Amino acid sequence: EGLRVTFPGSRRGVGRGKRSVTAVDDVSLHIERGETLGLVGESGSGKSTTGRAVLKLVALETGAVQIDGQDLTHSRGAQLRRLRRQSQMVFQDPYSSLDPSTTVGASIAEPLRVHESMSKQQRRDRVVELLDLVGLRPSHADRYPYEFSGGQRQRVAIARALALNPRLIVCDEAVSALDVSTQNQVINLLEDLRERFELSYLFIAHDLAVVRHISHRVAVMYLGRIVETGPVERIYEQPAHPYTQALLSAIPAPDPKLRGTKRIFLSGDIPDPSAPPPGCPFHTRCAHAMDICSRERPAMTPIEGGGEAACHLQTSGPRLAGQPLSATK
Ligand code: SF4
Ligand code: MG
Repeated sequence: EGLRVTFPGSRRGVGRGKRSVTAVDDVSLHIERGETLGLVGESGSGKSTTGRAVLKLVALETGAVQIDGQDLTHSRGAQLRRLRRQSQMVFQDPYSSLDPSTTVGASIAEPLRVHESMSKQQRRDRVVELLDLVGLRPSHADRYPYEFSGGQRQRVAIARALALNPRLIVCDEAVSALDVSTQNQVINLLEDLRERFELSYLFIAHDLAVVRHISHRVAVMYLGRIVETGPVERIYEQPAHPYTQALLSAIPAPDPKLRGTKRIFLSGDIPDPSAPPPGCPFHTRCAHAMDICSRERPAMTPIEGGGEAACHLQTSGPRLAGQPLSATK
């Protein structure tokens, strides 16, 4: 609710100079039990920082995170530890989370050692159970990360994330480094685990086809802000926000109804996040921009078909929602 994360500027910072950057600005999201929320946007839009903020891995300037109605943000001590185990993260590159000099079994057992009082044998049994859940064999426990393929390493990372029976798993580009067939296998695994344990996923990815496949709902970020949310079908078939329309027009459409949709090219680069444009953050690149857009920040407004979008066209211009993507250009 209202998450805001600002990284202080550094005199010696590369490129951005001394100005601080608000990487996440007033972001509110909710995820139901058993639901996958896809989070999309160009690189630098604040997706990963949002994921980390949800897990309390970066400091929040404002806002709060609740899990099952319990406030993670202001918890301390034992309560914080208890809430922390309920949300875990799976990263793009398992090398960053798996110690290369430690066996895969020991890596999976580490959260158990820290959080659970288990005997060595109980831990060993749980590791074998977790390996089985992700489609690996008990003998894999004694091997090292370098002995595994990329897909197997991602399975290990998922087993480790599952060790403490979390409610929420933040998947940050979790399948992005894998080839397409391995991607599909890992996505199927994530789907099976979600159904089996009623897990919730915040699924961060730049691949819009993958997000469409796995998500129930989608949130679109631009320059640290959520600009649109909605059920996956509505977002992909009738995107309301001009930025969402541009993002989606860039992917090849297998749906014959969408063939012939013109690609919408975004003019210019994503603005410097240390000096975001006033008003609508997208106005410097938006083909529909009006006078009001550079002055007033548009509020999130309900969209026909579900979800919300932050665009003045929804309130003061011709309505775009409810029209198929092909009809908007
Ligand atoms: Fe474009 Fe204006 Fe809508 Fe922003 S508010 S997306 S600039 S039309
Ligand atoms: Mg990222």
